[in-house]
Amino acid sequence: MSLREYQRKRHFTETPEPAGSETEAADTSPHPAAPLHFVVQKHRARQLHYDFRLEWDGALLSWAVPKGIPTDPKTRRLAVRVEDHPLEYGTFEGRIPEGQYGAGTVEIWDEGEWRPDDSSVNAALRRGELRFHLMGKRLKGGWVLVRTRFGETRSKQQTWLLIKRKEDAVAPRGAAAGAQRER
Ligand code: MN
Repeated sequence: MSLREYQRKRHFTETPEPAGSETEAADTSPHPAAPLHFVVQKHRARQLHYDFRLEWDGALLSWAVPKGIPTDPKTRRLAVRVEDHPLEYGTFEGRIPEGQYGAGTVEIWDEGEWRPDDSSVNAALRRGELRFHLMGKRLKGGWVLVRTRFGETRSKQQTWLLIKRKEDAVAPRGAAAGAQRER
């Protein structure tokens, strides 16, 4: 994880957003029992969108979802992968001033814990299919992020699809057990 792109895009003397620390994130997965947090931030920028962020490896994996997190398994929502954000961004709410990157207002729309269904999140990201459960205040259940084939051709940004999975059970106790049960 690197915050370089995040920091390059922003002027922290102008925006109230957190700068993030320079410390290198550990190159190891967190302890399996440690809770991982997610947040959905409603971002009224030039175009309203929802920023979906998953804590991983000391940063927040981030996707911009123009139409919001789907709750109907029949709906696929475009999710554009954007630069990793610092962990502190997960509690950020406020106004990004005019002229700054992402100018507009940010409010927390949902938050809670998430749990990957795969034993290796890094492998799932490389593969382009990340299955997980959210245990938020609004969002509960299983979702999958799938990278699209045309994802990286037009621009450097990766396009993914965010899809609600059909089963709606509360996240199972063990990630591996959950992944097997749903197959
Ligand atoms: Mn945004």
